[in-house]
Amino acid sequence: MPAERPRLLILGGTGEASELARALEGHAFDVVSSLAGRVERPAPLPGIVRIGGFGGADGLAAWLRAERIDIVVDATHPFAATISAHARAACDGIGLPRLILERPAWRPVPGDRWIEVADAAQAAGLLPGLGRRALLTVGHRDLAAFTARGVAVARVIDPPRQPFPFEIVTNRGPFDIESERRLFAERRIDVLVTKASGGQATAAKLTVARELSLPVLMLRRPPPEPGERATSVAEALAWLRTRAERR
Ligand code: NAP
Repeated sequence: MPAERPRLLILGGTGEASELARALEGHAFDVVSSLAGRVERPAPLPGIVRIGGFGGADGLAAWLRAERIDIVVDATHPFAATISAHARAACDGIGLPRLILERPAWRPVPGDRWIEVADAAQAAGLLPGLGRRALLTVGHRDLAAFTARGVAVARVIDPPRQPFPFEIVTNRGPFDIESERRLFAERRIDVLVTKASGGQATAAKLTVARELSLPVLMLRRPPPEPGERATSVAEALAWLRTRAERR
């Protein structure tokens, strides 16, 4: 009888998670991708997709058991700290291997004027001293910190439910340099506020800020979870292949 294919859970909600699911299509794994359900129309994914929380670390552990999952890849966003902590607790608790697919952080280069801050509240406090027409790219949950003044535009994936005293642009990356240059010029942006998300898909705004010599308020990443990690989809695939061979 042929051996059962290993069952893999990808905790997703990122471009890298989607890329990994696509790269594994037709390969030696049965893949389930999991999304939190924050985005109204998630981009299509191959394989099985489940949507919604698991009910904490215990709920996730119970789900992993019930679904007979063999391996977990935590490919969530670097700022999604709760689900990553739950993934570690659940996998450690039931003895499942877990790989963190962590996109590399951005590194400043000469000409960058980055100011690292702990969170949105600190960024909002510093903003009035830095500019009057900020572009916010911090996600919809952090918009409320910026209602006082100094913001021209917030770019988010889905329109927020409540009104804000600044323009909302809805758009989903990746963003190229030309469209970012246009956005900065048309809205007369004089400061950028962003999470230190890393990766290529949303890096063009940093190039434009550098070209224009604009300050960038950069929200620091939460501390990463310990565990085995890959920094690219190719590395994750190599790790998974080794795991599959060991079975
Ligand atoms: P979070 O604060 O770490 O998670 C909050 C809760 O949402 C978790 O406890 C879990 O609920 C549920 N959840 C999160 N990710 C999930 C997933 N992939 N599958 C099933 N349930 C999930 O996460 P977040 O910052 O709200 O981010 C939510 C999702 O959006 C993540 O998948 C992340 O990859 C993606 N995302 C986040 C950001 C960001 O800036 N935070 C940016 C881009 C994409 P239960 O406890 O009930 O299991």
